[in-house]
Amino acid sequence: MIPRQPLVRFQERKKNSLDEEKNGTEGVEEFLGPPSHTGMNILLTIDVEDWFQVENLRPWIPFCTWDFRELRVERNTHALLDLFDDVRLEDGTRKCEAKPGERLGSDSASPPTAADPGASLRSLLRPSGGNKVRCTFFTLGWIAERLPGLVREIAARGHEVACHGYSHRMCNGLSEAELRKDLRDSKRLLEDLTGDRVAGFRAPNFSIDKRVLTAVRDSGYRYDSSYNSFSLHGRYGRIDLNGGPKAGIAYRLGDDFFELPVSNLPVFHRSLGLGKHPMGQFHLPWSGGAYFRLMPLWIFIRGIRSILHDGGAYAFYLHPWEVDPSQPKMDQASFRSRFKHYTNLWKTKDKLKRMIELLGDCRFMGCREYLEDKTGYRQG
Ligand SMILES: [Zn+2]
Repeated sequence: MIPRQPLVRFQERKKNSLDEEKNGTEGVEEFLGPPSHTGMNILLTIDVEDWFQVENLRPWIPFCTWDFRELRVERNTHALLDLFDDVRLEDGTRKCEAKPGERLGSDSASPPTAADPGASLRSLLRPSGGNKVRCTFFTLGWIAERLPGLVREIAARGHEVACHGYSHRMCNGLSEAELRKDLRDSKRLLEDLTGDRVAGFRAPNFSIDKRVLTAVRDSGYRYDSSYNSFSLHGRYGRIDLNGGPKAGIAYRLGDDFFELPVSNLPVFHRSLGLGKHPMGQFHLPWSGGAYFRLMPLWIFIRGIRSILHDGGAYAFYLHPWEVDPSQPKMDQASFRSRFKHYTNLWKTKDKLKRMIELLGDCRFMGCREYLEDKTGYRQG
């Protein structure tokens, strides 16, 4: 393992009293534990879909009605893009700046070389003296067809465009022909818009299995990010990753294909008498979405610190509709569905901003960039 080198140093801590008041996080830093080691990575991911496309509400909003629904994903995605551009880690609680001659945003402090031309580009894309927030946007083909400018905007602002399928159907419920067509067509659509190869795929509702994973690889993707280890959610798929070679938190499934799971918090089934052995490991849902909205921020960040301590990286996900408290409400949906979908929407955006600031000693990056850093992987 390559030893990590300190790329950032901390200076003064300042409280942002306004945000703390909004989020109920006043004094939260005292409870967060010590800062993690420098060089820790936060993989931010956004699944670009609109409020009426979520599986949770599908029984009340069938696909045939989508074209009659109000499109709100563009403004909500722009709100996230603006947040990522505007978050001022330098002015937040933890000041971050590069030492002379250091590359921001890399585990290695060595300068860019001919063998690593991407390093130069990545350095240029980050403002000097700051820790530029970058993200992977897993985008629905259905959205890309209707909002091509949004896809181009995401790419133009320095983020990775990846694929979330075409119409948000559960991958493990599609026939082989339907699945491969969906994977191929949505990839090509995004590539035509950005002029860049699409490397990553995330299955709607984490509906992955071995068959889907094979189809993702065969369709020309270089990584999948559909595995969610929380085992008590009925829709999340399962794949066996035990024993495979790892690069950071990524699993190498072939010479040029990786699984990059979202992150959860491992605990042990002591209560079940399974002891400390990893065979008894159980994961709490800690990767984002509703779990992020429902949990107090200081608890959530303590969990992230624990995950970072164990693996050096943490993969987070959110949706644009989760920062939109004014979206239409489906009153006829079940209480459970409404609770999962609408709780705490009003404060998610400020909570996300505060989370990023409180983790300002880490690097924020997309999935492809992480794989490039960890594996030498390059999009061919
Ligand atoms: Zn989705």
